[in-house]
Order: sequence, then structure tokens, then C-alpha cells
Amino acid sequence: MNHLEPFIRSSQQSQTLLVNQLSHERASRGETIFRFGFGQSPFPVPREIQDVLAAAAHRKEYMSVQGHPPLREAIAAFHNNMEGKDWRAEQIVVGAGSKILIYCLLAAFRQAEVLLPAPSWVSYAPQAGLAGHEVSWIETTFEDRWRLTPDRLEQFCSSRADSNVPLVLVFNYPSNPTGQSYSREQLKGLADVMRKHRLIVIADEIYSLLSYESGYATLEEFYPEGCIVSSGLSKWCGAGGWRLGFVRIPDALGKTYFQAVLGIASETFSCAPSPIQLAATRAYGDPSFARAFLQKQIGLLREVGRYCSDALQQVGVEVHPAQGGFYLFPAFDRFRNRLSARGVDTSEKFAAALIADTGVAVLPGSAFGMPAESLTARLAFVDFDGEQIMAAGGREPEFSKVRQGMAAICTWLSELG
Ligand code: PLP
Repeated sequence: MNHLEPFIRSSQQSQTLLVNQLSHERASRGETIFRFGFGQSPFPVPREIQDVLAAAAHRKEYMSVQGHPPLREAIAAFHNNMEGKDWRAEQIVVGAGSKILIYCLLAAFRQAEVLLPAPSWVSYAPQAGLAGHEVSWIETTFEDRWRLTPDRLEQFCSSRADSNVPLVLVFNYPSNPTGQSYSREQLKGLADVMRKHRLIVIADEIYSLLSYESGYATLEEFYPEGCIVSSGLSKWCGAGGWRLGFVRIPDALGKTYFQAVLGIASETFSCAPSPIQLAATRAYGDPSFARAFLQKQIGLLREVGRYCSDALQQVGVEVHPAQGGFYLFPAFDRFRNRLSARGVDTSEKFAAALIADTGVAVLPGSAFGMPAESLTARLAFVDFDGEQIMAAGGREPEFSKVRQGMAAICTWLSELG
């Protein structure tokens, strides 16, 4: 069947999943692995919500494509309450994870140019490619904390060849991979440029509830007419494998666009699993319960994130402490000469050498759109058992695996010679 090859799309498994697999293989050979590659919540889904899911196991009927109405009501009320949004249930589409919904949002454009800051989450560019869109990257720098700036955005927009083709920016913060956020002032500055050039923005707010500082600022406040928000249960509720996400589409984008997104949803996943939607209705139904649960998670994540960034900074690695979520994005440029002497001159070779020598799995910066030779990596500091730590009331958290993994990285760097 080799004749088929030229007709097959080049699409690879997401690099984050591959690193996870490599880690499992090494672990199955009995070697210690520090799993800093895969960014999955270390916390359990609260017992009350698991119980609702168990009780809903018999609900085998399809639900509406847009999502169970009480769930959409609960999502809107929850985010209005927690983050000062102004959402209505009918603007929300629920799906089997926000990832497939982001794909639906992109695929709903017959033609578009997709704009991504480098670094950005691994799946946006492949999704844009699958939807048949060109991808453009905007560089960011360590000095700007890997943030998109109004100047760089303006420079890109004003030099576009065909400004009639819709420009869709996927904008995520707190960021996977950098752990960085934006202030209200920074968002306001960006919103002015977005409005001037009529961007469509997919604001991926999947980590917003895991912001370490209170008062998450949202781009939507400054650019409501062009801002679609995506989020879901995966990160704040520790429920990645449940596959429950949503998008909120502003009225200003019009009915045709909304119907196109719904149409793609109906021709792909049909609806999010019904029992999961019922459990999610409970999860979104009680902001005060969520607040208490989030407060514990945030305290622990902030502590372990800070421990890791301090450890790296102490041996001379350039890294910004995380402001939310689970990630750090260190740059190893100060070690470039010593690394090149060992043949390590790309982020992929860096990640491969690190796992081979120390058992520490990280993802190379190139997976996030960084140039191959940038010596950057994403480090997910979640190799700990959140359930055990929460059960211990968060007292004297051990994080021993994280500590050992960080010690292994730091020793390896110090011994490069
Ligand atoms: N966006 C970002 C930045 C993520 O890190 C992830 C998950 O890793 C997703 C979206 C997808 O989340 P979901 O589980 O809702 O599909």
C-alpha cells in the first residue's frame, strides 16, 4: 500500500505524549524517571464530583451538541462569579476537552492565518495545519518574560501582505510552556493593537483558575468583541482524562460563525460524554467549594514552582518564576559552550542528553515553536502525588521526587566542566 504515502497528511503524535511514552519505557526497565515532561494535574478530582460521575454511569443517551443546558448555565455563572465575566449559557459550546474545540474554532474558517507567539503550546500549530491554515510565529524574548508585546504585534500586523484574510491569534496565559501571565496594563496595550487590526483572538484560559496571584486579568475585558475564551475541567479540577472543555464565543462574531463551530462539533465528536457533563455540572455548580479546593492547589504549586526556579537560578540558569499553572521555561544559554563541547547544540539534543544522563524528562523548546538552536526546555514541576499531599493537609509536603530531579539537573549542569 506504499502508493498511498504521498496522499497521507504528515501528522505526528503530540510531542508531549511521546515524552511520556519514553519515560514509561525507561521506568519499565527499572530506571528512575523524573517526569517533568508531561503536564498533567497532580491533584485528584474531588470525591464529591467522582461520586456524581459514578451515579451518572447509566446516562447513556447523547446530549445536545452544544452541551447540556444546565452545564452551560453552571459554567457561565461560575466564571461570572469567579472571574467577573459577563457570559450567557447560549454563548457556550461544551466539548470533549477544549483541545478539540480549539480545532473546531480554527476549522470553522475556510481561510485564515494563524498567529502564535513563540513559545506556544504544542498543539496549536499542528491543529492550524490540519485545518489548512498558514501559521506565522512572533518571536518573544526571555527579557520580556516570553510575553507578546504590543510593539511586536503591531510590527507583524502592519507588515502583512494580505490583510483581508482573517488573522487568528491563539493567546494563552498563564502560559503553557512558560508559566508567565500578563498584567491588566499589558493586556490593554495588546487589545488596542488587536482592535486596530481586527484580530480574532482565541484566549486559551485553561490555567486561569491556577493563577498564583488573585485578580486574574482577562484580555476579554479589553477586547470583548474579538475574544473567544476556551477553558475546561482538565487543569483546575484535575480531570484531564475526563475530556470536558468549553468555548465561549462572543455575539459580535455572528451567528454564521457560531453555527459553523457547532456544525464541526456535530460532525466530529457529537457531544461530550453525558455522565461527564453531569459530573461537570456539579463541579461548576459551587464556586465556594471550588475556591477552597483551588486555594490548596495554588499554595502547593506556588511553593514547588518557586523551589524549582530558585534551584535553577542558583546554578546560573535563566528562568522566570512561574505565575500560574505547572510550568517553567528555563534557558540554558549560559551553558552553551560547555554543552556544544559535548555535541549538544539544539533543544532536542539537550532534552535527549538530559534524560539519558540523569533520567529527567523535559520537553525541548523546539516543540513549542522556538528555533531549533535555542537552548530552552519546558519543565513541568508536577511529578508528585497531589492526592497524598492534600490528604496530609498540605503539611510538610515532601515533593521528594521533584527535589531529586532538580538536584539531578543542577549537578549535571555543574559537572559539564
Ligand atoms: N491548552 C493548553 C495550553 C493546555 O496545556 C492544554 C492541555 O494540556 C489544553 C489546552 C487542552 O486541554 P483539554 O484537556 O481541555 O483538551
